[in-house]
Amino acid sequence: MSVHSRIYMDCVSGKPVDPRVIDAMLPYMREFYGNPSSVHSFSGEPRRALEEARSAVARLISAERPESIIFTSGATESNNMAIKGVAFRNADRGKHVITSSVEHMSVMNSCKYLKTKGFDLTFLPVDRYGVVDLEALERELREDTVLVSIQYANSEIGTIQPIREVAQIVHRKNAYLHVDATAANGRLPIDVQREGIDLLTLSSNDIYGPRGVGALYIREGLRIEPIIHGGGQERGLRSGTENIAGVVGFGKAAEIAMNEMQSESEKLRKLRDRLIRGLLDGIPYAFLNGHPVHRLPDNAAVRFSFIEGESILLSLDMMGVAASSGSACTAKTLEPSHVLMATGLRHEEAHGSVLFTLGRHNTEEEVDYVVRIMPDIVKRLRAMSPLTPKEVLW
Ligand code: PMP
Repeated sequence: MSVHSRIYMDCVSGKPVDPRVIDAMLPYMREFYGNPSSVHSFSGEPRRALEEARSAVARLISAERPESIIFTSGATESNNMAIKGVAFRNADRGKHVITSSVEHMSVMNSCKYLKTKGFDLTFLPVDRYGVVDLEALERELREDTVLVSIQYANSEIGTIQPIREVAQIVHRKNAYLHVDATAANGRLPIDVQREGIDLLTLSSNDIYGPRGVGALYIREGLRIEPIIHGGGQERGLRSGTENIAGVVGFGKAAEIAMNEMQSESEKLRKLRDRLIRGLLDGIPYAFLNGHPVHRLPDNAAVRFSFIEGESILLSLDMMGVAASSGSACTAKTLEPSHVLMATGLRHEEAHGSVLFTLGRHNTEEEVDYVVRIMPDIVKRLRAMSPLTPKEVLW
């Protein structure tokens, strides 16, 4: 198969599992299948592996101790657990929650659910790059605000949030800060203690681990209400027999990310900039979505005026390139992305967006191929689009 027959630049929707991770997982399906809660000796190795993985994930984010990590089924569950868990536990202190207008749907909808349970909800605005308005945060924090949930970085437009400043503001008002770090983990170094993060959402697949595993970091001493009840695993916060093979894979992926993040992110940044530059230079009326500098190393989000992102994606797919128009979670709706709308784009501007998310496997050659084929794709679609002004048909 030629290199051009299949190029994968949709890491936001899913990543390949690192072969080293798969190797680490296999024994926990073949040999060490025991339940860590059992009394007999089959429980020993799974129990040890579970705690080793917990330590590896804790180290990756500089958590104070392994026990601060609770394993879940993924980022969606971690976000639900953090937001509902803090809100319900602290409802006697206050019933106000703040989040931003560019969060993932699992944060947005958990917060909206709280509204149906009598909580007050404030959505913070963002600027045209998607950065949260810190003055608005300061203004909206109240005596009864118990939780603020702000993402570390946005998966759709790549913008990195000023989390340290957010944490300082939130803590001055004695509220808790939850951070969804799904898009940033493994690409940016995260230090929960130094950055003042109280709860942090992580997902395994985003660091080349298996799907169906995630974690929630909970700062020592912070108590939350469980949302899943049962046998009391994971300190009673997340009942259910542990997904040992998955967790082992997550731990291995965390260990690899620890060792390789710096060099990998440097490589990704170069590829990202080459892709962005190539597209913006080669195609008129093409614009970058998200922040030009405070941006995830793997994210190249570009919009093309007068045409639909979906038609670009179909053309790209026919040329062997997989990209996306934004979050895979909202791809099924025809609504323009709430993230792009929050940055002030008009419907027709938001609709012309294409998101390339790069990974370990991508090469300079692949980037150059995309830069080479895109002008013709855009030109052809613009020629067919009733929205294209005549003078633009170059
Ligand atoms: N938060 C962010 C920022 C995401 O990009 C995603 C999707 N990858 C999620 C949460 C939800 O992740 P999952 O679908 O794995 O639960």
